[in-house]
Amino acid sequence: MGDEWEPPIPAGYSDANRAFLQAFMARGTLTFREAQKVLAGIKGAIEDDDGAVPPQSITMADFENFVRSAREAVEPLDYDIRNTRDQVRGGERVWAFINAHSDPATQMGTARSPEEVAYIKRLLDAMFDQYNTPRMEVMAVDEGQALRVSRPTRRESNIHGNNNNNNGGGGEGSDAEGGDGDGDGTTTVSRGLKHSEVLSLLASLVAEGWLDKSRDGFYSLTPRALMELWSWLMATYNDPDAEAEWQHIKFCEACKEIVTYGQRCNEPDCTIRLHDICEDGFWRTRRERTCPKCSTPWEGNHYVGERAVTSRSGFQRGRGRKGRRSQATEAVEEEDEEEEED
Ligand SMILES: [Zn+2]
Ligand SMILES: [Zn+2]
Repeated sequence: MGDEWEPPIPAGYSDANRAFLQAFMARGTLTFREAQKVLAGIKGAIEDDDGAVPPQSITMADFENFVRSAREAVEPLDYDIRNTRDQVRGGERVWAFINAHSDPATQMGTARSPEEVAYIKRLLDAMFDQYNTPRMEVMAVDEGQALRVSRPTRRESNIHGNNNNNNGGGGEGSDAEGGDGDGDGTTTVSRGLKHSEVLSLLASLVAEGWLDKSRDGFYSLTPRALMELWSWLMATYNDPDAEAEWQHIKFCEACKEIVTYGQRCNEPDCTIRLHDICEDGFWRTRRERTCPKCSTPWEGNHYVGERAVTSRSGFQRGRGRKGRRSQATEAVEEEDEEEEED
């Protein structure tokens, strides 16, 4: 590249800027440490002095300048670069190259079949609706749960078959109930995915940076996916007219970003949530460790995210006894139902 370098074109947008944007788009996300390596490589190549630019010499201000130019370049195309902190991994800040008007089909669904796109939508429904209730805000699914939505319910499959229109969970076309035949042999009906297809799709969504898979085997959305799908998630799962009530998508009291992994108020009906990574700073500014809304002592032992399941005794027992995680999760679900009957 060194030999062919030409002076920057107008507005100061240089080959270095272009190379940075290409590297960013190819990766999808960058942490500052990763950006230091990328920018050191670019500078080394362009300055043509044997590539000897140490990554540590790249400052945050350097990086931010490159991000600013890249944002200006992609803005007319409805792309953006945003950053957020990783809720799970110690709060490291992550920058992501995103399409601000994304839905699951345009995002995780590019270059995938309609069946796979429909599955991804069912997977998100499982994360943000089915396994995200006022009592259990898991917002993650284990493998067994991910496999349980491998095929559409009969109603959904008929809806798809009838008008071929996935209208995003809210549509109640209930007259499709009671149709005969379960879809086998009928080409117009959505057949869903085989278990082996689900497993390979999940693996590729993890590899592409849309899903995280935890040590306990739970799948959840990555910071990148959350940034990209933020407005879609709100529009799909929240009720804008019920602001004071429990909502599927909730925000951190400290940083105001989405909480899918964090803590909840010990008062079950209270809607205050806090990231683990935000709590130190949050409590430092307060005299008492009590909920800012309902004043219940904040014990930090009620969770949002997979720990809503894994911290339960039923999960621990189930894992010890059976060794299989999905069964361990089922044990917690059963325990939860028993509690609800009291
Ligand atoms: Zn926060
Ligand atoms: Zn509270």
